[in-house]
Amino acid sequence: MPHFLKRRNRRVAPAPESNGDKPKEIPKQPRGRAKTQNLCQQVEWFGFRNPGNLCYVNSSLQSLITLKGFINDIIMQVEVWKGIAEAQLIRAFINILILHRSTDAERKCQAVYVFKCILSKKNPEFQNQGQKDAHEFIVTVLDQLRNLAPLLRQEAALVGRKYRCPVEEHFIFKMESTRTCKGCGAQSSRDEEFSNLSLNLVPGASVQDVLQNYLKETDIDFNCGCGAKRSGQQSSFATLPKILMLHLKRFTYSRPMQLEKLHCAVDVFRELMVTSRQGDGWYSLVSVVSHLGIKGQQVDLHNFCTLRHLI
Ligand SMILES: [Zn+2]
Repeated sequence: MPHFLKRRNRRVAPAPESNGDKPKEIPKQPRGRAKTQNLCQQVEWFGFRNPGNLCYVNSSLQSLITLKGFINDIIMQVEVWKGIAEAQLIRAFINILILHRSTDAERKCQAVYVFKCILSKKNPEFQNQGQKDAHEFIVTVLDQLRNLAPLLRQEAALVGRKYRCPVEEHFIFKMESTRTCKGCGAQSSRDEEFSNLSLNLVPGASVQDVLQNYLKETDIDFNCGCGAKRSGQQSSFATLPKILMLHLKRFTYSRPMQLEKLHCAVDVFRELMVTSRQGDGWYSLVSVVSHLGIKGQQVDLHNFCTLRHLI
């Protein structure tokens, strides 16, 4: 378990005391092919080979694959998307899901390349073989899947079916932004849709802390009719998503407006409580993507984590 993944109130089981039983016979370890077969039976999932700069694609797609409800919603609607030419991104994604259990590294690598190639048609910034940001990539995947929804709804309606967009069902939520005048106290608010939140890291803080920091009121310049020039602005959750994706920003602007990287460790607890207009919601950690890419003397770090809403 990496250092940034801690469980709140984690308990360590005491070492068993000797009860005088005879030591059990240690089974012989299998070798060669038998060892591989044995391993395949024990391990449910296998990773993806990284022939170079594909780690951001591999890790992002694997974090999506672990989301059972999201995956089920895509698979259950196979009759809607399987024959639609424009839905090739969904088919490429499901192919990766199927191959995830495979030990054929070459086929898996090919499947990841095909997926990246299809995605790059509409987002050419992912076309070359360079290193990219994992968070930008996963947000692009979700955007492209969501953009297919109007067409798939239309096609589904033609055969008397309904299509529910898995991205909208699981990731999309609304944030309410409220502005309060510092002079007269007049308020105005609006709701805005999000698929994830980008949070500024605070050295020594946990994910819960940086989320609370994001939700604090900040001062902004605003000319109110009362003559006051300052207002407070505060964001709050209007709705809660089934899957909450939090992006932890390691880049910040220092005083002379220079980009600075924060290399501090982050505590990610397994549970997270989020307050919303609809009430409190508890989330359980599903995956963490913590990327470390080294290029020359530069070290790039970017992270995001996904959390599943507990019902
Ligand atoms: Zn005012």
